[in-house]
Amino acid sequence: MSACLISDLHLQIERPDLTLAFEKFIKNKASSYESLYILGDLFEAWIGDDFNNEFTIRVKKILKDLTLSGINLYLMHGNRDFLLGESFCKEVGANLIEDPTKLNICNKEVLLMHGDTLCIDDVDYQTFRSVVRDKKWKEDFLKKDINERIEVAKSLRDVSKIENKDKSSEIMDVNQLAVNDVFQKNNATLLIHGHTHRPQEHDEIYGRRIVLGDWDKDLWYLTINNKKIELIREKI
Ligand code: MN
Repeated sequence: MSACLISDLHLQIERPDLTLAFEKFIKNKASSYESLYILGDLFEAWIGDDFNNEFTIRVKKILKDLTLSGINLYLMHGNRDFLLGESFCKEVGANLIEDPTKLNICNKEVLLMHGDTLCIDDVDYQTFRSVVRDKKWKEDFLKKDINERIEVAKSLRDVSKIENKDKSSEIMDVNQLAVNDVFQKNNATLLIHGHTHRPQEHDEIYGRRIVLGDWDKDLWYLTINNKKIELIREKI
C-alpha cells in the first residue's frame, strides 16, 4: 500500500515548464503508487468544465492515462480551481473528495484539507470565499458565456493580487486556533494540507500537521506507505 499527495501546482498555460514537470511526475513517479491525492489548486484558475483549450486537453489526458493504468485518483478543490466539476472528474476518472475529508491511507487515519479555511485571520479572503462558494453564485457564474467568465476571473485575481500585497505573512498563514479546532472536531491526529506554500512538518497540540509545497522552481510531494511518511522536494 502506498499513496502520493500533491497540491498547489497552479498549472496554467503561461507555465509550460510546470505542465511538462507534471507530465513527467505523473508518468515516472505517481504511477508507482496505488493512489494519487491532489489537495487543491491543481490549476491556477478554472472557469468551468466546458472551457477547453490545448492546455486543458493535455492535462486531462495526463490524468486520464494515469487512472486508465489503474491508479486511484482523488481530487479536492482549492481556492483557485473550486469550479472543477463532475464532468471533469468523470472525464479523467477522478473521485472528487470534500474539504475536509478523513480517510484511512496505508493504515493511518489522515485528515485532508486544502488549507484555505484554516487561514481565518485573512478576513477579506474568508468573506470572498463565502461569496464565491455559494451555490447560487457558482450557478450564475457558470451560466455566463466564456468570455465574460474569463473577464470576471481575471478581475477577481487582480483584486486578490493587490490585496495580498499589503497583507502580512502571518495573516496569510494558518490560524493556530483554527488548526486546533479542526484536529478536535475531526478527532484527527494527522492533518495534511497545502495552500500556504510553506512546506513543513509541525508538531501541534493534537497531532502532526504536514504542509505540502507549491510547484514553482521545485516540485513537492508527500509519500505515505506502511512504514513512513515523507515530504519530498525535487528540482523542476
Ligand atoms: Mn490555495
